[in-house]
Parts: sequence; structure tokens; C-alpha cells
Amino acid sequence: MLTNLKNKYKITNLDIMRFISQFGFFSFILYISIGHLIYGGGKSGFPSLGTYCPFGGFVKIFQNLGTGTYIFSMPITKLVLLGATILTAVVTGRAFCGWICPFGSVQEWLGMLGKKAFPKRIKVPKEIDSALRYVKYVILGLILFLALTLGVMIFKLFDPYSALFRFAGLWGNVAISAVITMAIFLTLSLFIDRAWCRYACPFGAIQALFNKISFIKLARNVDICKNCTKCSEIYCPMGIEISTLTETSAECIRCLRCVDKCNFDAVKARIEV
Ligand code: SF4
Ligand code: SF4
Repeated sequence: MLTNLKNKYKITNLDIMRFISQFGFFSFILYISIGHLIYGGGKSGFPSLGTYCPFGGFVKIFQNLGTGTYIFSMPITKLVLLGATILTAVVTGRAFCGWICPFGSVQEWLGMLGKKAFPKRIKVPKEIDSALRYVKYVILGLILFLALTLGVMIFKLFDPYSALFRFAGLWGNVAISAVITMAIFLTLSLFIDRAWCRYACPFGAIQALFNKISFIKLARNVDICKNCTKCSEIYCPMGIEISTLTETSAECIRCLRCVDKCNFDAVKARIEV
């Protein structure tokens, strides 16, 4: 029966492994959030959501730099998490986005729902899509600049992840602008796959930069490729045109859906040291 289902929906073992990983991290964060909502923080309660946010740790380093504080002055859990995320990025590139990040997973699941409910998807024109993908770098630059110069953490005003797992303000302070950002991008993800990850996420922008230098790279081998474009029939959650990919893409979240689908073995993940 499982084999029939897998064949019907073209689900691979890798898809199942990735779903287990995504669902595991999503469930963990949801568990923490609900625990904090019911039992509060402190020694007998649950840690706050910010404890498990590696991006917060990254921005804190810039804030500390600007205020002349010891740059690693932050809770140890945040520091360890930040280190682990950077290590993951160095080895795998943007795999955090494809396998771990709960906000990315929620968008992906909504995208699947959107495909069923509204089969007519929004196809963002290629030029506009390419230009919009740079917006996340501008957002990242602005966040780090303001942390460094004014010592402010402006992102919490727009952070959709925090708004989602704080249940739009049911626990903890959530700015209305963050709730609006969350509502806009979750709605958009019904029509555009992972709209927030593609265009706006500053943490995704950092990891995208690692894709170019990570040990694991993924691209189409142009010498082997027969230009049959069969690989473009595969669903890529980041909307990458795999049949024209000549080098590892900054947008690739290493979901590995496209790997090994080519009849000529032209699309491969490889290790480069
Ligand atoms: S781009 Fe941002 S929201 Fe999307 S998966 Fe990556 S870190 Fe998460
Ligand atoms: S290019 Fe392949 S591995 Fe990268 S996100 Fe798209 S389908 Fe996944």
C-alpha cells in the first residue's frame, strides 16, 4: 500500500526523510511554544522562543559590536545554536532551510495545500522574480546596519516566525506589524512557493551566501546534460529552473528532490573541499 501511495504521488525515500526532519523540528518548536504559553518561563516553565532562534544570535553579535559589549555576550544556548547553524551552512549550504526551519516548512505545506485548492498558481515573471530575490539581502543589510549603529533589533517588528509561534500575540509581545507580515506571507505561500524564503527572509539570505562556499554543492553537469529538460518537470520548492542551472544556486535549499532524477546522471550533489 505504501509503495502504491509513493508511486501515485511520486514520493521518494528522501522526501519521507525530509518530511520527518521538518515535522520533528516543527513539533519541537510548537511544543516549546505551547509549553511557554501554559506554564510561562523560568526554571519550572519552558524556554522562550528566542532561545531557539539562531538569527537572533547573529544580529546580537552586531549589536554587541556597536555598543562595545563583548561580542559573544548572549545566552549559551543561543551561542551553541548559532555555531551549529553556521557549521551546517559551511558543510551543506542552505540545507537548514530545506530540512529544519519550521517557518519554511509551514510555507511549503501551505504551498501543497494551495496547489490542491487553487490549481492556478501565480507565476511571477522571470525578471521580476530574479530582482525580488535580492530584496532579502537588502533587508539583511538594513537589520545589521541598524543593530551596529543604533543598537536596535528592528527585525522583531516584522518577524513572521515569532508571530506564528507566539500565536499572533497569545503569549509574549508581538508587534502588530509582525502579525501582518506573517499573515501576508502565509497567504502568499498558498500561491507562490515559499514566498518569504525566496524574497524576504534575512536568515535565508545569510545561508544563501554559504551555498557558494559550502562543501556540498549541487548543479547540473553541462557536459553530461542532453538538454531534454526532464528535470524541470520536478517540483522545486524554490522555483529554480534546474534545466538551465550551470552552477550551484544561492536559492537551493538542498531538498535533493531533483538529485538522481536525471536519466543521464547530470544533476548531482557533490562534495568539493
Ligand atoms: S529562508 Fe528563512 S524562513 Fe525560509 S527556511 Fe530559510 S530561514 Fe526559514
Ligand atoms: S534545485 Fe533541487 S535540491 Fe535545490 S531546492 Fe530545487 S529541487 Fe531542491
